[in-house]
Amino acid sequence: MQTKAAVLWEANAPWAVETIELDSPKHDEVLVELHASGICHSDEHLVTRDMPFRMPCIGGHEGAGVVREVGAHVSWLKPGDHVVFGFMPSCGRCPSCSTGHQSLCDLGAKLYSGRHISDDGYRHHARGEDISTACLIGSFAHHTVVNEASVIKIDNHYPLDRACLLGCGFVTGWGSAVYAAQVRPGDAVVVAGVGGIGGAAIQGAKLAGAKVIVAIEPVETKKDKVLELGATHVATSWQEAPAVVAEATWDRGADVFICAMGVGDGKLIKKALRMTAKRGTLVVTNIHPATETSIDVNLMDLTLTEKRIIGTLYGSGNPRADIPKLLELSSVGQVDLDIMVSRTYPLEDINDAFDDLRAGTNLRGVLRYPAADAA
Ligand SMILES: [Zn+2]
Ligand SMILES: [Zn+2]
Repeated sequence: MQTKAAVLWEANAPWAVETIELDSPKHDEVLVELHASGICHSDEHLVTRDMPFRMPCIGGHEGAGVVREVGAHVSWLKPGDHVVFGFMPSCGRCPSCSTGHQSLCDLGAKLYSGRHISDDGYRHHARGEDISTACLIGSFAHHTVVNEASVIKIDNHYPLDRACLLGCGFVTGWGSAVYAAQVRPGDAVVVAGVGGIGGAAIQGAKLAGAKVIVAIEPVETKKDKVLELGATHVATSWQEAPAVVAEATWDRGADVFICAMGVGDGKLIKKALRMTAKRGTLVVTNIHPATETSIDVNLMDLTLTEKRIIGTLYGSGNPRADIPKLLELSSVGQVDLDIMVSRTYPLEDINDAFDDLRAGTNLRGVLRYPAADAA
C-alpha cells in the first residue's frame, strides 16, 4: 500500500514528508493505522546523529493507532485492536524480559539497524530505496508495519492522541522517579529539564509522595506549567539551582536527582552530584551524545557520602504492564496526560514541530493524523 511518512534522508536535514510504499505484514508483524505520534528528543538525536540510526529513516517511536492487518503467526491481535508502540521491543522470552526488565529486552540490539526482527529485511520503501524505521517503529507516518514485539494492546476507549505518550516519554519519566530512583514518601527530588520526560518524572515523584520537587527549567514561559505538574520550586538555571535546592532541603540536598534534559551534558554531572544528598541517587535518564565517554566526579566524595549514579532506560519499566497501568491511573486522575500535550501538528508541519522542540517551548508536541479525526 501507499502511505505518507516523514523521512530523514541525511543528518541535520529537514524531514521530508512524502508518499512511501509499505509492504504487507509478514508472519509475526502487524500493520497499524496511526492516530498520533509524540515527538521525543530522541528523534532530534536521530537528526544530529547523536544516536546512530541507519539512514534513510522514518522517524518517530512514540505512536498509537489501530491494527488493520496481522501476519499469519500473530494470534493475540486482530484488526480493530488499539495499540501503543513500545520504543523498546519486548519479546517476553529473553533473560531481561523473563525477569521483569522489559526495558532491557535483548531485541534492543536491533534498534539502530532499522531492519525487521524476523528476517533483517525492510517493509518501507521510497524513491527506490529501502527505508529504516526509528526504533523499528517509524511513527511519523500514517501507517507502519512493526513486529508484534513492539506492540502493546490497550483498551479501545482511551484517546490514542494521549496514549501515544506512553510509548516512550511518559513511561521513561514516570519510571525514572518511581522505579529507577524509587522515590519514597517525604523525599526531596530534583528534576533537571521539564519536557515530556521531566514532566512525567515530576508526576511520578509527586504520586510517590515526594515532599519537595525542585525543577530546573530554563524556559521561563513553562514555569506555571511546571508548578501545575507538581513541582514545589523552580530554578531557571543550573547557576540558580544549588541555592534553591539548599533552601528547599534545609541544606541536605536531594534524595533523588533526575537528569531529564534534551541532551545530557557530562559537565553537569558534577554539579548535580553536589546537589544530591548523602546516600542520594543521581539518575541519568537523558541521552548523552554517543561520543561522550567521561565525567568529572570526585570519587572520594562518592565513597564518603555513599551517593549512587545510575542509568535508566525506559524508566526501568515494563511497558506491557506499565502502559495499561498508567492509562488506568490517567482514568482516575492520578496522572495527567492532557497537561503533557502542549501543541498538536499535522504530519505536514513536522519541521515546525521540531523548531518548537529545539526552542524547548513544548512539554510535548504531538503529530495528529487524519485517522484521529475520523474516529
Ligand atoms: Zn523517546
Ligand atoms: Zn526480551
